[in-house]
Amino acid sequence: MENINGKNFQEELDKARSELEMLYDIGNAMRTTLNLEEILYIILTAATSHTGLSFNRAMLFLVHKKENRLEGKMGIGPDSAEDASKIWTHIEKNKIGLEELIGIETQFDNLKKSRLNQTIKSMKIPIREDSGVIAMTALEGMPFIINSLEAKKKVNNEYSSLLDLDEFVTVPLKAKDKVIGVLLADNRFNQKPITTDAVRILTMFANQAGLAIENSRLYEQTVVLSNSDSLTGLWNHGYFQYLLGEEIRRSSLVKSYFTLLMIDIDDFKNFNDSYGHQAGDSILKDISRIFKDASRKIDIVARYGGEEFGVILPITKKEEALILAERIRKAVETNQDMKNITVSIGLASFPEDGPKKEDLISKADKALYEAKKLGKNRICS
Ligand code: GH3
Ligand code: MG
Ligand code: MG
Repeated sequence: MENINGKNFQEELDKARSELEMLYDIGNAMRTTLNLEEILYIILTAATSHTGLSFNRAMLFLVHKKENRLEGKMGIGPDSAEDASKIWTHIEKNKIGLEELIGIETQFDNLKKSRLNQTIKSMKIPIREDSGVIAMTALEGMPFIINSLEAKKKVNNEYSSLLDLDEFVTVPLKAKDKVIGVLLADNRFNQKPITTDAVRILTMFANQAGLAIENSRLYEQTVVLSNSDSLTGLWNHGYFQYLLGEEIRRSSLVKSYFTLLMIDIDDFKNFNDSYGHQAGDSILKDISRIFKDASRKIDIVARYGGEEFGVILPITKKEEALILAERIRKAVETNQDMKNITVSIGLASFPEDGPKKEDLISKADKALYEAKKLGKNRICS
């Protein structure tokens, strides 16, 4: 107490206040979104902006529990010293605050697309003692400051040369008591020494960031679960309706097109009557997997209801859609596990079959009815 005279005390107080204000600002920024990518971007911007923690570069890794490794998710920092000084001069001159820095994302889009970010995204670090400091941070749940020759010995060369590391600090990102990731920061360009003060603030910040990441992950899981069909894991009816609406909106906006498939299992009532409803349920599960495997990554596959399915084929004209539909029909017909199950498919395309959701569904339904009338196990448009 005796060495805190009036002036020192005031200085300490001011420092504590500005630190608190900064953490509060970052907390507010993180509360504006539940999207994981955006949260990560806010965290890294806060770690590198002058009004924030003002490191030159910041990189973020998240724990992949099943694989027991850290996966690089995002890195922010100019690729060269020249870029660095240009950007920071710009920020200083224009007095850009954290909030604006996050807001004017387009201006800093190049940061996200930077070489550093590409490198980070390709990194997978096994969580083992021999993987170096980044892995050790996750293992021990403690920060590491690499600023002495002694400390630099701990650094795994493979990763340090990949990231061009010299002096740096790592802190664990924790949610409750679990380590969910690692944040790495350095001053590669202005070579400013990393102080214990900076590490202390970064650690406080990391706890806040860890919780925000965990919340957004839980939220994203909840969204997926609540929009999925519990038997098949496909999107449910409600979300299919929403996605179809979104596809129409997007396609009208950019003058694009898409095709809708309605798929119905043939004579499924007979199958249930012969083999029982549990066998029927098992078919519904397996056939959903077949639909997913036979369609492309961009396609949206949903359980419309009962034994009916809806598939949205974005940026796909009718001719191409007919080929994809045939691939699906054939995949079911030839699958050994499907017994003698077959499907009929009806097609409708946007915009020629109507501008509204209802038009498209009803046109596809009519085509499906036509396919049934013509003998099933076929496609009509
Ligand atoms: P069609 O070829 O004309 O489509 O004949 P279908 O027998 O498939 O058509 P219908 O609409 O008469 O019967 C659909 C059957 O699908 C009735 C029902 O037993 C079965 N079904 C619907 N949902 C489920 C489900 O969740 N589980 C099981 N096991 N069966 C279902
Ligand atoms: Mg039906
Ligand atoms: Mg049917």
